[in-house]
Amino acid sequence: MTTVRTETAAVTTEAMRAALPDLELDDSPATLEAHRTDRSSMPGSDHPLVVARPDSAEQVSALLSYANGHRIPVVPQGTLTGVAGAASASDGAILLDLTRMNRILRVSREDMIAVAQPGVIVSDLAEAAAAEGLFYAPDPASAQIATLGGTVATNAGGMRCIKYGVTRESVRSLEVVLADGTIMSTRPRTVKTVGGLDLTGLIVGSEGTLAVVTEVTVRLLAAPGPERGVLGLFPTLTEGLTATNRIASGARTPSRLEFMDGLCLQALRNHLPDADIPAGANAWVLAVTDAHDGAEEDLASYETTLLRAGASSVHRAATAEELEEVLSVRRRLQPSAKSLRGGSVEGDIGVPRSTLVDFAARMPGLSERFGVTIALGGHAGDGNLHPIVAFDPSDPGAHARAEEALRTLSRLAQEMGGTMSGEHGVGLEKLPFLDTEMAPEALNLQRRIKQLFDPNGILNPGKKF
Ligand SMILES: Cc1cc2nc3c(=O)[nH]c(=O)nc-3n(C[C@H](O)[C@H](O)[C@H](O)COP(=O)(O)OP(=O)(O)OC[C@H]3O[C@@H](n4cnc5c(N)ncnc54)[C@H](O)[C@@H]3O)c2cc1C
Repeated sequence: MTTVRTETAAVTTEAMRAALPDLELDDSPATLEAHRTDRSSMPGSDHPLVVARPDSAEQVSALLSYANGHRIPVVPQGTLTGVAGAASASDGAILLDLTRMNRILRVSREDMIAVAQPGVIVSDLAEAAAAEGLFYAPDPASAQIATLGGTVATNAGGMRCIKYGVTRESVRSLEVVLADGTIMSTRPRTVKTVGGLDLTGLIVGSEGTLAVVTEVTVRLLAAPGPERGVLGLFPTLTEGLTATNRIASGARTPSRLEFMDGLCLQALRNHLPDADIPAGANAWVLAVTDAHDGAEEDLASYETTLLRAGASSVHRAATAEELEEVLSVRRRLQPSAKSLRGGSVEGDIGVPRSTLVDFAARMPGLSERFGVTIALGGHAGDGNLHPIVAFDPSDPGAHARAEEALRTLSRLAQEMGGTMSGEHGVGLEKLPFLDTEMAPEALNLQRRIKQLFDPNGILNPGKKF
């Protein structure tokens, strides 16, 4: 049994059971191990106290009130699909597993909203909306495994952000529990309100450090039309990125605008020998429309732009099925990365689109400097790329050099006016980049806001700030 010595007294799971008899608590070694960390390489503490599984906001409130009183750290957790260590266990922490709170409470056609608990899986919410002819736009590639609460807390992105924005744009209001156990709604569910500061926006993306999300009201949209797309292949990376910039800043905003360089295509060819992946191209650009009206004009305009930017060929994915084939190849990029050299690590930088070409031009030099291979692919329409740093695992020190190359890429993105994380979050992994991410005054203000929300620092300590 783990004992946590706090400022007030020694706390054990038994003491918690006595104080919170209705709450499901589990401190078996197997459960603690399963909740130790997310999918990042951050290890997470070996010594958390217990996993708690509340089934209501009231239970979360009672737990936080208890934890606050005893100064016990609390780490909110969804399904642990995060890739930055944001949900990794801390020493002596209560790991607050929110997956039992998984009910979709309401889908309203009239108000075009859905109300759901945080443990709902994102794709389940999207399906419930679709059943009413409505559309939940956020689509992280983890939509079938990640929770709504986790995606709200990390402000998750995905492929559709160029048109619909990140998760924040789809969150109308939140019910949260504050560190002292207070249950609070952040704003009315109306489309518009100017009656206060944007607490919803502040909590979205706060990675479990400001409050625990216990209910989410999301904005729904009218269902879009069937998606269709145009794929352009380019002899050079510069021409491909120039094309994405032109499409992104044009009048016909695509629903997806994705990019891969020649090395990404090589990785996919190695990994999927039977798939039809073009050889000889150094850039692959996919522009998709989901417009009801004007889809044909969109596709024609994307084709013209791709060709004018230098595409050696363009191909239409004229039906949703054909497009799905193309997208399914794009989605295999991350699993195929190791096929380049045997080992790989992946980044998540964002730069202003105007600097994408310049950023990409630095990759050959950096690859040489670190003795690795850097491939670029991702959501170029948002300036958000997921660099793949491939290395030879039989070369001692190559993994460490690949990690150093990734850190250099994060710094380079920041120097170019960008960010070290476009969508995956800060967690533990990106903490070393905070000082160079924003002005000291901005960081200081954020730390003071954290203190206001959580004066005893119990919520996800040591993360994000
Ligand atoms: C295959 C794969 C593909 C991915 N694709 C994408 C992608 O396209 N875009 C993208 O942005 N990310 C992506 N991710 C990363 C990950 O899925 C997202 O970060 C997701 O939002 C995490 O959700 P989760 O439920 O797993 O949360 P967890 O990993 O469990 O937690 C993430 C953070 O949220 C906090 N948290 C969780 N629930 C709550 C709550 N109810 N209240 C307060 N805080 C809470 C945790 O403390 C932690 O800080 C991908 C991951 C994988 C494995």
